[in-house]
Parts: sequence; structure tokens; C-alpha cells
Amino acid sequence: MKIYRGKSVCAGIAIGKIYVYQKGRQSVTRYQVENADAEVMRFREALGRAEAQLSHFYEEAAHQVGEADAAIFSGYQMILHDREYLESIEGRIRGRSVNAEYAVATISDNYVAMFSSLEDEYMQTKAVDVRDVSERILEALSDSPGGKARLEEPVIVVAQDLAPSETIQLDRKKVLSFVTLGGSPTSHTAILARSMGIPALVGLASHITEGAEKWEGLKSLHGKLAVVDGNTGVLMVEPDEATILYMRQLQEREQAQRALLLSMKGKKSVTLDGRHVPVCANVGNRGGLEQTLENDAEGIGLFRSEYLYLEKDTYPTEQEQFEIYKMVLEKMGDRRVIIRTLDVGADKQADYFALVNEENPAMGLRGIRVSLTWPEVFKVQLRALLRAGAFGRLAIMYPMITSVKEVRQIHTLVEEIKRDLQTEGIPYGNVEQGIMIETPAAAVTSDLLAKEVDFFSIGTNDLSQYGMAIDRQNPQLEDFYDPYHPAILRMIAQTIQNAHRAGIWCGICGELGADLGLTELFLAMGVDELSVSPVSVLPLRSKIRQISVKERREEVLGKWLQE
Ligand code: PEP
Ligand code: MG
Repeated sequence: MKIYRGKSVCAGIAIGKIYVYQKGRQSVTRYQVENADAEVMRFREALGRAEAQLSHFYEEAAHQVGEADAAIFSGYQMILHDREYLESIEGRIRGRSVNAEYAVATISDNYVAMFSSLEDEYMQTKAVDVRDVSERILEALSDSPGGKARLEEPVIVVAQDLAPSETIQLDRKKVLSFVTLGGSPTSHTAILARSMGIPALVGLASHITEGAEKWEGLKSLHGKLAVVDGNTGVLMVEPDEATILYMRQLQEREQAQRALLLSMKGKKSVTLDGRHVPVCANVGNRGGLEQTLENDAEGIGLFRSEYLYLEKDTYPTEQEQFEIYKMVLEKMGDRRVIIRTLDVGADKQADYFALVNEENPAMGLRGIRVSLTWPEVFKVQLRALLRAGAFGRLAIMYPMITSVKEVRQIHTLVEEIKRDLQTEGIPYGNVEQGIMIETPAAAVTSDLLAKEVDFFSIGTNDLSQYGMAIDRQNPQLEDFYDPYHPAILRMIAQTIQNAHRAGIWCGICGELGADLGLTELFLAMGVDELSVSPVSVLPLRSKIRQISVKERREEVLGKWLQE
């Protein structure tokens, strides 16, 4: 048995034969053209065909993995329209009177070399994107269907690298796993594999020491039996009988676990002693709604509306926002949808906001501070929300609150808008209004804040960041970050208690809500709702249904909050 290590990008176990996927780039020859203008026209026509093909890939990807991840292919369209890229190619055709294929291949190679030489992982992803788009143009120029692999049986696909277009063209039913020599966990192919739920490993190259032999060595694996363990990041080639048997058992156990989770669909998140704690979903991109419905969430506990602003290059209009909010509410039916108002700033930047560079952006102009600084922008969103509120069970939530004063300022604006809508004869909903508790200031004064709003939702991501002075973007601080620090847990407990004393409800929508090791504690604290990423909904429901809170309440609280 030979073992290769890589980085896992999607957990799960696959057992089957290896299929070595070879790239389809035709060799490109250079020749002189007599009429450069005609050659440029030929190039432009090919661009049109490549664009049509990429639209087809987008549709295919949207169908397979949802619109959010299919957006990779809309990014490709941007490359196809990138002026600098196109002008460089046309410039080369005209300047040297060469054929379009040669111009595309050489300009693309320049871009790829430039992006690959940069340290930044995101920029390296761009190299893959440009190469992929250029391949599509070359294919369109030659009118050949390209190197689409035809898989005869379910296989483990091993490749030097897989571009998103190549990944999406593979028959999903016949792909047991993806393994690539290059790539990183954040590469687009890795994202696609994860969305497809296929066990996948990337970056084998960094663990193989034989240098130039790397790919040649892997090519010889074609047809061999192998196991991919996406949980530990290992590819085992020609494993012995005992290993196969063991891995098969693991695989069966995982499949049983998945079946158990699926059996949770349609059930309520009720504890053994009868408390119903709805498990809702966090939505932060276009595909989120689909995943929310697929995972049977009992509502949307956090709709990060900023994605509507960040995916555009100018402010979304009132009507655009209204239509999206209305659509989400209608799709969710009688389930509550909590839409959080714009939370930009810090790590979420949009150029057109023209936010100045700050020395401490996480503690700068972000969240509600941006909205209160630009009330005209805020009012557009509030109008869209209030109007949409007439079409479902909407709750509006405000981010990054630190004081009662801010809440009162917001309420004044909301009342003003309601009056305007009334005067204009435009219907609006009677919506709940709540705030995120994600700053220590808000947690500590939650008794005062609770008198001003209809509900709280605790944002543990920021509450931990601000509570422990740990920048959530800084990987160097990993060792200092303790999600179970009693300071954070006590603030959560205190917030829930203050909410209940004032007669309002309190949920948790930060990542900590999905930590199954803390579910019993949150239930003991009396949390009223948990909102987690869609994939965590069913595991959390299953956990809640195994817990009985009453008799262990004091013991659990003591264990976590006193030690
Ligand atoms: C949080 O801070 O916990 C939260 C849910 O908000 P975001 O992650 O969007 O900042
Ligand atoms: Mg936050």
C-alpha cells in the first residue's frame, strides 16, 4: 500500500479505482496571418462562443451546487470582458500579425505566471481562473469540444489540477472523489467539490518529495484500487484487505449517520423534557435560502443583508431590495425571517462605500455606525424591509449595537418611514425589531436594552472578538482564542437572563451556536432559538432531541460558568 497525504477539502470516505484525468489543452502553433483585422474578428466570434459555453456551465453548476457557488462562472464572464486582457490579445494579433490561438495562449501564460508568482492564495486562484477561461477561448477557436473526460464507472478522479469548468463537466454520479496534486482548500474547485458533498483532497504535491517525478508518478496510478479518507486527508493506493475492510466499516457508519440526520427532516427541535428550541439558519449568500429549505430550518435567524451590497458595485435600490426580501419571506411561508440590516465595515468592504482606511477597522465605522452615519442609505433599506414585511413574518435586526441611544435613534427613523409610507398609501408590515448582542457594552447593559426592543440575538463571533480582544481575522491568535472562556459564556447567560426578565426572547446566531459541546449549556441558560449555518441545522436538531434540561440545569451552569 502506498500512502499520499493532501489537504482535505470535503470529509467522507471513497473507495474505488483511480482515474487519472489528463488535461485537454491542444498544442498551439504559431503562424502569420495576412489580415490581422479578420483574425481579430475571428477571435471576437470565438469569445461569443466561449461566453455561451460559460453561461451553460453556470446553469449546470447552479443546478448542481446552487447559485452561490455557481458564481465562480459569473466571475469568468468578467475575465471575458476584462478590457486589459482583451486588448493585450488583440494587440498581439495586430502587432505581430499572429494567429488568435497563439495570442490567447501566450497572453494567458503571461497572466498565469504573474498571478502564480504572487504569495496571496486568492491571487493564485486567479491564475487558475484565467487559464480556465483561456482554455475555453482556445476550444472555441478550434471548434473542438475539448477534453471532457468520459467516465465509464464510478471512480476516484486524480488530476494535476482541475479547473472549475472541468469539474462541472464530470458526471457527478461517477465521481467518488477528487484528488489533485495542486490547488488549495480555498480554490474554486475545492469549493465546488465541497458543495457537491464529494470527498476531496488537494495539494498532494506539497507532501511528495520526489520533485519532478510527482505527476509522472501519479499518472502510473491509473486503474489501481484506492481509498480516499477525506476526514484525515489521505489517499491510500492498493490498500491491503484489512484496510479496505476497516475503511468500508467507517464508510457505512458515516452513511448511517447521514441517514439519521436526514430522518431529522420534518421533526421539531424539542428536548426530551418537551422544550421547543427552534433551530434556524444563517443566510449570507444567494444559495443560502435554497440550503435553508433543503435542511428544513425552522426559520431564518440571521439574514446577512450586506451580501446584497457587497456583490454589487453600487447601492442596491429600494425596489431591488424589496423584491429579494419579499421573495425570501414568501418562500419561508409562516416561518420567521430575521433580516439584519447592513453590516459593512471591518472585513466586509465595498469600494463604493468609500470608507476611509482605519487603523482599527474592527473597532471602527462598521455595522449600525455606518447606517447611522449615512441615514439616507439606511432609510432605503428600512423602507424596503418595512414594505416587504407585509408579505411574511419579518423581524428586523440591527448589528453592532453598543447603547440605548443608538436604538432610540433607529426607532425614530423607523417611525418616520412608517409615517411616510402611510402618507404615500404604501402597505407595510408590523415587524418585530431586535438587536444583535455582539459587543460587551451591549451584553453588560442588556437589562437596559431589553426594555427597548422585541428580541435579542447573540453574535458570538464578534462578542468573542471584542470580549477577549482577539481579532477574528488574525490566525496568529489561534492559540489565545478560547471559545469556552467563562467571560463570554457569562455574558451570554446574563444576556439571556436579562431578556427573559424584560419579557423578550433571546437567540444565538454566532458560530458558537453550532458547537454541539455547548448545546446542553445553552439550553440550560434558557436560549429561545439557535441559528446556525444550514448544514449544521440537522446535527443540532438531533442533539437537542437527546437532551433533557430540567434536572441537570444547575449542574451544567455551574460546570461552565464557575470553573
Ligand atoms: C457574529 O458576530 O456572531 C455574527 C453572527 O455576525 P457576523 O459573523 O456576520 O459578524
Ligand atoms: Mg457580527
